[in-house]
Amino acid sequence: MTLERAPSATETATQWLAAAGLRPTRQRVALAELLVGDGRHRHVTAESLFETAKSQGATVSLATVYNTLRAFCDAGVLQEIMVDGAKSYFDTNTHDHPHFFWEDDGRVTDAPSDQLVITKLPDAPDGVEIASVDVVIRLRKTET
Ligand SMILES: [Zn+2]
Repeated sequence: MTLERAPSATETATQWLAAAGLRPTRQRVALAELLVGDGRHRHVTAESLFETAKSQGATVSLATVYNTLRAFCDAGVLQEIMVDGAKSYFDTNTHDHPHFFWEDDGRVTDAPSDQLVITKLPDAPDGVEIASVDVVIRLRKTET
């Protein structure tokens, strides 16, 4: 009998990069480990991932983190979420799903997809079609 061993964060990250057709450079593996190493989906900004990497002793610049996130997006394994023009959010879950944006602390989390019903969209202008619809629900604290 062989015991099933859960893959390590490095193995998960390396497989994720291979599936994306990306060469597993040391920095890519390190950042991929932080993104998908535990097998969970997460939402990050370049800044938040940079802080996490730094706190774990990685020597990586914010520009490298940003460029690596862009490369992951181009490879189709990461999705950029448009929240506002000032900051880019990246999601390891690339399937269409709605998001909550928590205005008070700038977090992005998943909103329940099964509660979203889009019944009517404006017609696309002549010569173009709707490529995608991004749903970001902005939240703010209520007075208590
Ligand atoms: Zn998401």
